[in-house]
Amino acid sequence: MANTSQNLSPFASFMARLNVAAEVLNLEQRFLDILSMPEKTHIVSLPVKMDDGSVKVYEGYRVIHSTVMGPSKGGIRYADYVDLDEVKALAAWMTLKCAVVGLPYGGAKGGITINPKGMSVGELERITRAYTRALKDVFGVDTDIPAPDMNTSKREMAWIANEYSRIKGAIIPGVITGKPLELGGSKGRTQATGFGVMVSCMLALKKLGIDPKQETVTCAVHGFGNVGSWAAKLMAEQGLKIVAIGDHTGAYYDENGLDIPAAFEYAAANKSLAGFTGGKAFTNEELLALEVDVLSPSALENCITLKNAKDIKARIIVEGANGPVAAEADAILNEKGIFIVPDVLANAGGVTVSYLEWCQNRFGYYYSEEEVLKMTVPMLENAFERVYEAHKKHNTPMRIAAYIVAVERLSIGITMQGEY
Ligand code: NAD
Repeated sequence: MANTSQNLSPFASFMARLNVAAEVLNLEQRFLDILSMPEKTHIVSLPVKMDDGSVKVYEGYRVIHSTVMGPSKGGIRYADYVDLDEVKALAAWMTLKCAVVGLPYGGAKGGITINPKGMSVGELERITRAYTRALKDVFGVDTDIPAPDMNTSKREMAWIANEYSRIKGAIIPGVITGKPLELGGSKGRTQATGFGVMVSCMLALKKLGIDPKQETVTCAVHGFGNVGSWAAKLMAEQGLKIVAIGDHTGAYYDENGLDIPAAFEYAAANKSLAGFTGGKAFTNEELLALEVDVLSPSALENCITLKNAKDIKARIIVEGANGPVAAEADAILNEKGIFIVPDVLANAGGVTVSYLEWCQNRFGYYYSEEEVLKMTVPMLENAFERVYEAHKKHNTPMRIAAYIVAVERLSIGITMQGEY
């Protein structure tokens, strides 16, 4: 999201929290310095023949933040506001996320500065293939493994897997995750991130002694794409009352609870919530400021900033999106006593199932959806528990606790590798 003078840029937000965690841990400067700078930054030019015969040149990025814990892993975002700062931050958060869950991965992220909604399917395919060719020596099963992010889905992943396999002269599905099932994707990947948001939400409720079976737990979900729609659907199935949902076209409210399966179907059929009649239309600003038990910002970065942090009334925030809270707003939310399950923990379900997809591609055997989700739950529960323990031990908010868990693991990895 475009930065404003109101809040820190996404990478500055990452650095602000990293510095706090380093201070709590009394971290050696060498670790802080290593984690403050991405290992490699690729900026590529992408000439694309448009449908009208003209040629346009777009800019693409792939930032490898860290490969200390394994090959780098992270999604690819298509949006007109994508810039290097944002991709750097998203890559760094992937490093932390993989370390928090204990996956054998480092962190990376990619992006192309385009408005995909203004392009035809053919143009999108050509730009995706151009991006793959430009990064053919960066991507690799054992080097750097992309995945979907905003405005990319299994369709783009299939194009990338196909282009990469053509270039390498072999079928290499494990170079990318989030693929269609027919092309080596994993069952359970589509809903994985929303599933993880739901699991994190239930764990947070349990820690706070709130039982949705005994009392009404209200919830608002900001963003209704892959993450938000699945999170809302699965939280509703757990008995939470979803009173508000919203996307870039607007927001909808019903104090008695929205019909989430209907909204889910509507958004899938219409590509957005525009025109949804199942609730009273209101604004995303109003949604974020609702007095609810759980708020799940699942759209994009910097939705809660210095400007609106004082208005937030939720008891718990479960971050489906990456970086939805600008670092400058942390103090205000902490002051209010809001329990925040940070992005690197709350939305880690996606990369966890991506890891299982990569494993399945490597050994050529495929699990049922039930098996995938059964393996995912304990990984997320363990991560939550470790972060919660660090939160208690260091008396820090859950976000800083998550940074602490990740940085401790990464410091051990860096030390064991030797040299530095
Ligand atoms: P998506 O493109 O499927 O959906 C994005 C949603 O956000 C859409 O509903 C869109 O309308 C909404 N949105 C965009 N701008 C908005 C605005 N200004 N106000 C309100 N809503 C707005 O993307 P996604 O995959 O659901 O990703 C959402 C967030 O989750 C991103 O921060 C992404 O990095 C993060 N994330 C995604 C995954 C994944 O597996 N897809 C994994 C981890 C984290």
